[in-house]
Amino acid sequence: MFTHITQSPYETVKLAEKVAQRIREGTVVCLEGDLGAGKTLFVQSMARTLGVQGEVTSPTFNLMNIYEGFCPIVHFDLYRLTTEEELEDIGFYEYTDFPEGIVFIEWAEKFPEALPENYVLIKIERIKDSRNMRRIDFDCVGEEHEDFLNELEEFVHSGD
Ligand code: ADP
Ligand code: MG
Repeated sequence: MFTHITQSPYETVKLAEKVAQRIREGTVVCLEGDLGAGKTLFVQSMARTLGVQGEVTSPTFNLMNIYEGFCPIVHFDLYRLTTEEELEDIGFYEYTDFPEGIVFIEWAEKFPEALPENYVLIKIERIKDSRNMRRIDFDCVGEEHEDFLNELEEFVHSGD
């Protein structure tokens, strides 16, 4: 696990771009954090670096967006969902094992049972009393992404 602090939306964008430069196809990325923490901004910035042209919007209302970048990019937001049946209805399980693409899931923590064995976890927390400061924790569940996480830590901190 490692942590990075950003002082502005711009710094978060730059951080997300670095993560996108290292991420591999077949990775599921779960994003945790309160409303307004910066999850969607993080995904938007990664998607652009991954070759998505045009607007990347928040899937809060439509629940899922798919984009064609250098590979397929799938973006879920589970905030409005309440049951696992609804997950099935939106095709969630087709993408929890999706070797050819990259899958982002906001509010994944609502459905711990529905998550794959291996995923990267990005937690974004507002730092108290500061409007623009965020603590961003990078971690993984399962062993598959441990090497990626170590490489990423080195890469992210190499520019400091
Ligand atoms: P979420 O998807 O977590 O609900 P959004 O990404 O939609 O959040 O919104 C995050 C908001 O917080 C944006 O308006 C962004 O400009 C603002 N913000 C302020 N400081 C930061 C920061 N350091 N990192 C990310 N977003 C920030
Ligand atoms: Mg969001």
